[in-house]
Amino acid sequence: MKLGIEGKWALVCAASKGLGKGCAKALVLEGVNVVITARGAETLEATATELRALNPDVKVITVAGDITTPEGRAAALAGAPRIDILINNAGGPPPGDFRNWTRDDWIKAVDANMLTPIELIKSVIDGMCERGFGRIVNITSGAVKAPIDTLGLSNGARSGLTGFVAGLARQPAVASRNVTINGLLPGPFDTDRMKTMLSNWAKRDGKPYEEVAASRVKSVPAQRMGNQDEFGATCAFLCSVHASYITGQNVLMDGGAYPGTF
Ligand code: NAP
Repeated sequence: MKLGIEGKWALVCAASKGLGKGCAKALVLEGVNVVITARGAETLEATATELRALNPDVKVITVAGDITTPEGRAAALAGAPRIDILINNAGGPPPGDFRNWTRDDWIKAVDANMLTPIELIKSVIDGMCERGFGRIVNITSGAVKAPIDTLGLSNGARSGLTGFVAGLARQPAVASRNVTINGLLPGPFDTDRMKTMLSNWAKRDGKPYEEVAASRVKSVPAQRMGNQDEFGATCAFLCSVHASYITGQNVLMDGGAYPGTF
């Protein structure tokens, strides 16, 4: 299936590794020009080289910076002539016990995982509506549907984003202009972030890393973790011309881990 988005411009935030990189790869393979961001310039450049090799016909622009800061967002937005596709992503907040979190910890989490995507949406949505095409995908977490006990900061901040977007996506001034906004909710995916989480859980429970990793995999009906390419492919479909009637949804990719019928 051709996705019909060749020549579009995408801003893929936090894309030098992991899920963001998977999304950038899938878009580049569909002929989409991309601006990719991350704080670490070296890994970002290496990823850009990989993307250019996948499809020499597209432009791949790198913008090194922290997407959770106003300067980082301004630089990222300035990297493309226009933004047709916005993939919101950033690092997740640390795990812990809420009794130890300060107001500053909460503000950091809300800033990164709720206000940063909202600010970016604010910057691009009117142009999308004027041009009659726009796709916004927010990478959130399965924790939005089923909270993860140690990830209270993530559960809270991402649910705030999800609630806000549920209203915005359904505004006729947005939805009637072929502009869609959806959440893509990862369950366990095999990325550096997951390795860090597994190390934390192993330390907390005093168990070997391998044992904790194996039991995490066992808890997923698919009996494996997801990979960045399958995540990217779903993201690219949500950005395609075929997905113009899908908006305000939260698409869970978790190998069947969520136990509810709906
Ligand atoms: P990852 O493998 O650690 O990759 C994170 C990427 O984001 C890197 O490219 C990193 O590069 C970049 N990044 C982090 N903070 C940034 C910032 N402030 N500004 C710009 N770039 C930033 O993580 P991942 O597993 O792909 O996770 C992506 C998101 O999905 C996270 O929010 C995570 O919590 C969430 N999630 C992941 C899973 C999973 O199983 N993997 C499950 C649920 C939710 P730099 O460090 O160089 O900036």
